[in-house]
Amino acid sequence: MDDARAALARYFGYEDFREGQRFIVDAVLAGRDALGVMPTGAGKSMCYQIPGIVLPGLALVVSPLVSLMSDQVHALIDAGVRGAFINSTLTPNQQRIAMNRAIEGTYKIMYVAPERLADPAFREFIAQVHVPLIAIDEAHCVSQWGQDFRPSYLEIRDFIESFDVRPTVVALTATATERVRGDICAMLGLRDPATIVTGFDRPNLTFSVERLDAKMKRRRVAAYIAEHPRESGIIYCNKRKEVDDLADWLASQGVATARYHAGMTTIERQESQQRFIDDDALVMVATNAFGMGIDKSNVRYVIHHNMPKSIEAYYQEAGRAGRDGEPSECLLLWNDGDTSTCRYFIDRVGMNDGVDEDEIERVQAVQRRMLDWMLGYCRTTGCLRAYILKYFGEEFAGRGAADGRGPEGGCGNCSNCLGDFETVDVTDVAKACVRCVLELHGSFGKSMIADIVRGSKAKRLLEGGLDRLSCYGTVNDSAGLVKDVIELLASQDLLSISDGTYPVVEAGPRVMEAEAEGFSFSMKKVKHARPAVAPEH
Ligand code: ADP
Repeated sequence: MDDARAALARYFGYEDFREGQRFIVDAVLAGRDALGVMPTGAGKSMCYQIPGIVLPGLALVVSPLVSLMSDQVHALIDAGVRGAFINSTLTPNQQRIAMNRAIEGTYKIMYVAPERLADPAFREFIAQVHVPLIAIDEAHCVSQWGQDFRPSYLEIRDFIESFDVRPTVVALTATATERVRGDICAMLGLRDPATIVTGFDRPNLTFSVERLDAKMKRRRVAAYIAEHPRESGIIYCNKRKEVDDLADWLASQGVATARYHAGMTTIERQESQQRFIDDDALVMVATNAFGMGIDKSNVRYVIHHNMPKSIEAYYQEAGRAGRDGEPSECLLLWNDGDTSTCRYFIDRVGMNDGVDEDEIERVQAVQRRMLDWMLGYCRTTGCLRAYILKYFGEEFAGRGAADGRGPEGGCGNCSNCLGDFETVDVTDVAKACVRCVLELHGSFGKSMIADIVRGSKAKRLLEGGLDRLSCYGTVNDSAGLVKDVIELLASQDLLSISDGTYPVVEAGPRVMEAEAEGFSFSMKKVKHARPAVAPEH
């Protein structure tokens, strides 16, 4: 048995490394930087604790979670590992003692907050110890694109580079968009890091997407609850008012619901949460304020009454279903109104915050990109699970065909693999829309484009001479379908839809592909007269 596995068994009593741990540990022990992206609970700590134990000297762990450091270190000490932490909860004297002991070689692993790294006294201390490894926990905090950005994380790179002999660096995070990963590598100055993304798949979850008009959504929710009467579930809404409306309505239909949003008092929220945890109320209707840190393992379904603003947000919320590993469902209901709400919020990012304009524009651009991915999920005809995992950078080998369900490469366990829709060829509509946008040089919105390609005789159109465009009147389909095709083209970068009060359709970065020979374009159309909805009482 090698040293790493021996340490894993000796100190932690685990037989073997989990997927991904071995990869990171091997890289780090070989002196190579590493980046591990794994969901919460996957076991990221072992990726630095084991190398910290095995390597000679003192491993530093940079973590923003000051309040957890003491627990983490006590867990290490209980396991027989000599650990320590230095942070503001210690008195200056206690800090001095910890540093002196570290210089004497007492510790193997030391936790510090990022702010500490710039402190001259700390740097002086570090110069006197051998540091073979620096682990950066919650490494996404270095990225300005994430929600947890911490300016102090930007100092880490300078600290790493201040060593005469640069320590190996391992960065760990549960947030995995490509952009954030790129940032982590750049902002921490990782050198050719061995990178692994693992464990995001949740095989026991079934994913479904349904596009529904606003008024059908709550009936769909009620029907779902009626079909699953003894099961516990969460229904997420985007706005507080929607939570109240839906919860009131469900209650009027005889469903025992709890609700949760930031507009309620702390006591109301606590009571509500407790009723849900104790199964007194089987259904929780909530905004995204609900769920963090709540450990209820038997949630059988999560329904999104509205489309969230990113795949990350969606997966985190949907992932609250089936923590016990039992089969559970994640159903997303959406419509164009949700898209507009998300766009509205993006347009208002940073408003009144005194943030500089360039910064706001950058953040908005990123959020739009994230929204496009989310929309792509709603519209894709491919496997939903594969789509999510691709977003997180994880390859999905597929298992659908193997057990006879769904297409090869798919999971065989999502609404797309199970084929609730048919694919409609809309190449001609797509080409007409693209031609129209190019001819107009992007000066109109979706409705006008639909009118033009459908040959409308509206006065505003004829007066503008738009009936002379070559694309005029070339499409026979409904305005709704044309607008859907435009949205779909935008979600795939063939077109782009500007923001603001009157969104304008423009050419997207991949527009030339639509002009190329052999271009084909298809979209999803629900096959059955779905969904099963409850009658309105
Ligand atoms: P993360 O930081 O990724 O959220 P943790 O490091 O807290 O995860 O680990 C989650 C749980 O998994 C802990 O209880 C930990 O002891 C356990 N664990 C980690 N590695 C292994 C392993 N190789 N075998 C069994 N259990 C493990």
